[in-house]
Parts: sequence; structure tokens; C-alpha cells
Amino acid sequence: MSAYADRLEALAGAAADRCTGCGKCFEVCPTAREIGLDAGQATVRVGELVALTRGGQPAADLLQRWLNACDGSARCSDACPEGINVRQWVTIAKMKALDAARPREVGAAQAASRFRHMAQAVRLLASMQLPSETLKKILAPAERRTADVLFYTGCNVLRTPHIVLNVMDILDALELDFDVVGGTAHCCGVYQFQEADLPTYERLGHRTFQRFGQSGASKVLTWCPTCSKNFDELEKDVEAPDFALAHVSEFLAANLDALRARFVDQPKRRVVIHEHLGIGATVDSIRTLLRAVPNLELVELVQDSGFSYACGGVAAKYKDREQAIHRGLAEGAVAAGADTIVTMYHSCHRALAGAEAVYSSLRVVNFTDILAEALGRGGHPDYYRLYKAGGAMDEAVAAARRFLTDNGVRVDEASVQSLTADIFNETGLAGSREAFARGFGALAKEG
Ligand code: SF4
Ligand code: SF4
Repeated sequence: MSAYADRLEALAGAAADRCTGCGKCFEVCPTAREIGLDAGQATVRVGELVALTRGGQPAADLLQRWLNACDGSARCSDACPEGINVRQWVTIAKMKALDAARPREVGAAQAASRFRHMAQAVRLLASMQLPSETLKKILAPAERRTADVLFYTGCNVLRTPHIVLNVMDILDALELDFDVVGGTAHCCGVYQFQEADLPTYERLGHRTFQRFGQSGASKVLTWCPTCSKNFDELEKDVEAPDFALAHVSEFLAANLDALRARFVDQPKRRVVIHEHLGIGATVDSIRTLLRAVPNLELVELVQDSGFSYACGGVAAKYKDREQAIHRGLAEGAVAAGADTIVTMYHSCHRALAGAEAVYSSLRVVNFTDILAEALGRGGHPDYYRLYKAGGAMDEAVAAARRFLTDNGVRVDEASVQSLTADIFNETGLAGSREAFARGFGALAKEG
């Protein structure tokens, strides 16, 4: 076992040692209830988790079902009277149980296939929406950066890159010395960890974290909730870094006075935040930031915000629940007279970006759209919203033609089909997929 794997074992072992077996973590687990596991069996399930952690034997059947169901909501950690990071414990136990249940090569092949598919989609979508100069800047190696602050994008936000441009605008407005770094060469390694391919995880996610340290930055600002969760649980707790780690929204909320001093007059709007708990203080930070924007009224809605830390990812397997969350939010927003839904993360943005096709009175923007505009910047086209809304595709296709040429990338008919499935098979609100398939199919035929 590697030194890194030893440290993970030690973290899980320390959780098992501190656990009193009260069962509160299992009682509150939303995904355990979603798959029908009995809350009355909480102490038994936790006892099995302790046994798995200490003994290394295969997970008991119902424990295995609990571990498989986990989507990282962190309700368990919040409920634990001992202050144990139960989500972290469950994450490590899940990886360990999977590793014991099948040959590592099977997990490695599965992780490689998922990574390859994601990387192809991210590369294409980023090349359709960003100039090559910006893309090269983001993809350059982390360890060669020199700025005091690293804004780490992760991989998947590059499907909706206007969000990255917004954050860069906001950090520019704060006159900060920062570098932006991301893309699949700096992946957090989530697929490898989820598939229990620990050796490759160490070469990817663990290495990415080390590269941040090698850059000499004093602060790393994360964007992606999955990267934030991974780095918090699988890196920061394994070995304390020399730099501070925070989500962009937390950093911005801590700099609210400087932002407020730069805000310019804004149009009136009534907004609802599509909320997720589970990633640090992100919801509270985004609330704080939006409340400070001139002429913005925040409408509070009761939401199912504790089900998952973000849309998509593992939560995507609970399609009906996700669909109900999206529908309930949009209908609640319309009933409350809100005109805007604000997304926290990129996966949620992708899920809701097409809401306008279903609820014509609603506009969907990311919180970074609002902040950048309030600073007199932003205004970057959200092409993904055009894809999802399913209306006229001319503007999005014209932009893609220009950016693809600039990036030296071509789309063919197979990649358009694959992208169409990627964009429209995700749970969420959207218009017709035909407009996207037709518009970009014609672009592929141009060769
Ligand atoms: S993180 Fe959420 S889904 Fe996972 S075990 Fe804890 S409460 Fe359940
Ligand atoms: S809530 Fe905490 S102390 Fe209670 S069983 Fe879960 S991990 Fe153990």
C-alpha cells in the first residue's frame, strides 16, 4: 500500500474510533431513504461500517447498498454529534469496498473510459465557445504559475466557459494578482477515486493538488463542487497544504466590501437561488453576495437543497428526484413572481439553462453572471443556454464556427451526435434537442 493509501486508512480508522454508534448519520441520509433502507436499522448499518473499516472484510449487503447510494450530500456529517466527517468516512469506505469486490483493472478501465468521454466533451464544448488564447491560458501547467492566487476551474465548467470568464472579470475588478488554471490535465481525479483506481488517482488528483503547492500560490480558489469536496476530504485532511483553499464564492463573500464599493446601478430583478447544501459555506456566501447587488431582491423558497451537493454526478442516478427538484424550483419561482433563477454551480447551470423553453417568464443565470455585470463587466454570451433552450441556433453556430477555427478543432457528425446526447440526456429543463442537432449537424457537414 502507498503512503497516501495508508493515510486514507488512518482517516477512516480515526472516524471509526471516535464513532459512538448512535446511528444519527444513517437516520438522516436522504439517499438511504431514497433506495428504501430502513432508518430504524441505523445502529446496525453503522456497526457494519465500523467493521468494514477495522476488518477489511467485504461489506455486508445492506451496508454496500448504503455506500453505493451515497451522493455526497453531507447530511450525515452535519448530523453527527461527535463532529465526525461522516461523508469523508463513507467516501473512503465506498472506495475500499469496491476495491475488495472486483479486480482493480476493471475499475481502472471503467475510470479511463469515463474520463475519456468527459475529456472529449469538455474539449469540444470549450473549443466551440472560447478563443484559443484564453483556452491556452487556462490549460497551461499549474506548477509554472507565478501569481499569489490560483483560480482553479476543474474540468467540467469548461462546458459553460462564460462562468470562467465571469470569475476572471470579478477577480480582475478586485485588482488581484491571480492565474487561472484548469482543464483535464489538472483533473481532481474523481472518476479514478470513485472507481477505486487509487494508483491512477494518485498520479492525477493527488498530483494536481501537489502542483498547486509547487506554484507557490498562497491561496487556491476552487470552482467545482466536486473538486472542492475531493480536495477537502482526500487531500487537505491527508496532508495540510501550504496554501489556503476556499471556494470562489467564499472568497468573494469575504471581500464583499471591496466588491460593494465597485458595484454599479443594476436593473430591478427578483431572484431565486437554486440551492445545494454540502460544500462549505457556498450557499450562505452566494446569498450574502446577491443581497449586496443593487436593486436585486432575493426571494426565499423552501427547497430540497439537502438531497445532493450539486446536480448531476452521482445524484444523476436519482432522475425522478432531480426532475422533481428542478420542476418544483421553477414552479415555485414563477408562483413567487421571481424573474430569475440563479445557479450556484456549472452542473446545475447545465440542468436549468433551458428552463426558459418551459417557463417563458424565467431567465436562468449563474451567480457569477450577476456579480460580473454588477461590476460593470461580464456580459459573456451563455451559448450553452442557447443550446439547451432549443430555439434559433444561428448565433451559437456562428460563434462555434469562429472559435473552432481559432482552436484548430473540427466537429464531425459523430461528435455532434455524442454532444447532443451529452447535453440533452442530462436531467433538467430544456427545449427540443432537434435545433441543436440540426444546427451543429450542418456545421459538421461544412467539414
Ligand atoms: S454524504 Fe449524504 S448520501 Fe452520503 S452517506 Fe452521508 S448523508 Fe448519505
Ligand atoms: S452520527 Fe457520528 S457518532 Fe453517530 S453513528 Fe454516525 S458517525 Fe457515529
